[in-house]
Amino acid sequence: MEATRERRAAEDCSIEAGVAFSSEQASRWISCSDEELPALLSAARETKERFKPQVITYSRKVFLPLTNLCRDYCGYCTFRRDPGQPGAHTMSPDEVLQVATAGERLGCTEALFSLGDKPELLFPEMRESLRRLGYKSTLHYLEAMCQLVLRETSLLPHPNPGLLSAEWIQRLAAVSPSMGLMLETTSKQLLAPGAAHDHAPDKLPAKRLHTIEEAGKQQVPFTTGLLIGIGETLQDRVDTLLAIRELHERYGNIQEVIIQNFRVKPEIPMRDWPEPSRGDVLRTIAIARLLMPDVNIQAPPNLSSPYYEDLLDAGINDWGGVSPLTPDYINPEKPWPHLEQLQMRTEAKGLVLRQRLPVYAEFLSTVMNRAPQLLSGRLRDAAGLDGLARRAA
Ligand code: SF4
Repeated sequence: MEATRERRAAEDCSIEAGVAFSSEQASRWISCSDEELPALLSAARETKERFKPQVITYSRKVFLPLTNLCRDYCGYCTFRRDPGQPGAHTMSPDEVLQVATAGERLGCTEALFSLGDKPELLFPEMRESLRRLGYKSTLHYLEAMCQLVLRETSLLPHPNPGLLSAEWIQRLAAVSPSMGLMLETTSKQLLAPGAAHDHAPDKLPAKRLHTIEEAGKQQVPFTTGLLIGIGETLQDRVDTLLAIRELHERYGNIQEVIIQNFRVKPEIPMRDWPEPSRGDVLRTIAIARLLMPDVNIQAPPNLSSPYYEDLLDAGINDWGGVSPLTPDYINPEKPWPHLEQLQMRTEAKGLVLRQRLPVYAEFLSTVMNRAPQLLSGRLRDAAGLDGLARRAA
C-alpha cells in the first residue's frame, strides 16, 4: 500500500531517476508533502547511484582558520571576531605549519584555509598584523601560507577566503588544486535591515556569482553551495541551485555543491531563529541532486548529528571535510563524527567510504596539466590510480 502510494506520487509528477529536473519540477517538489517525500528521496538516491555507484567520499582535512577577523557581520556567524574581542586571532606561519604537520601524521590530505573576508579593509589592527608579517593583504598572506604548506608538507591547500578577483583566482590556483566560496543564496532580501546579511557587503549575491563565474572562466575546480534556513524562501533555494547549475553548464567547473543547514547558537544575532527541519534538509538535498545529477553533492554530517546517515537517503555522495584533529571552527559546538563511526554508518547503508583529495578525481587531470611543478608533484604523490587519495600501503 505504502509502496503503491509512493509510486503513484512519483508517476503523477514524473520524477525519473537520472534525468535532470526542470526548474518547474524543482519548484514543485521542494515543497512536497511528507507522503510524497519517500518518492522524491528514492529518485534522488537512485540518481546518485547512477552517478557514483556505491561509494561515498570524504576529505580528511585540517582546518586552518588563518584569521577570524572579518569585515562582514552575518547574523548566523560565530566564527568572526573584531580585533580585541576574546578569541580574535590571526595564525602565525609557525602555527599553520604545526597544525598542517600534525594533520599529515594523521593521514590528512587537505589543508582547508577558512578566513574572514578582507578584514584589513575595515580594521587598522589587521593592516598592522599583516605589515608585521610582511604582507600587503590577507590574500597575499594566504597565498604564502598555501605555498608554505605545499612546500613543507604533503597536504593540498583548499582556500576559502571570500570574494576573489580574476587575478587572485589565478594566483591561488597556482598554489592550490581547488578553492571554494559558498554562494549561500541568491536572495537579495537577506541584505535588508535585520535580515541575515544585513551588514555583510560581501554577501551580495551578484558579487559571489561573479567570483564563481571568474573561477569558471579559468577552469578552476570550485566548491560552492547553499546555506539553508537563514530567511530564504523555498523558491529562493531552487533559484540558488538553478544559478549554480547555469554556471556549471556554462563552464563545467563546479566540483561540489554543499547543502549546509543553519544551526542555532546562543551567541548569534539569529539565536531565536528556527532551524530547518530534517525533512526540509532532505528535500533540499534531493532537489539539488535531481537538478544536478552529475555534480558532487555534499552535506556536512556534524550539522545533522546524531542522525546524519539519513542524508545518504537524499542523494549526497560526499560528507565533505572531516578532521581527525581540528574542530569545526565555523560550528565549534558540533564536533565531526569519529571517522570509524562515519565509516560504520556509511557501510550500514550499503555504501563504501573512501577518502578523496580536496580536488575531485574528475578534475584532477585539468589541474595537473596546468599546475606548477610543486603542486603537480604533490598531486601526483597524493592521488591513487582512481584519482582518490592514495591508500596507505
Ligand atoms: S559567515 Fe563568513 S563572511 Fe559572514 S561574518 Fe562569518 S566569516 Fe564573515
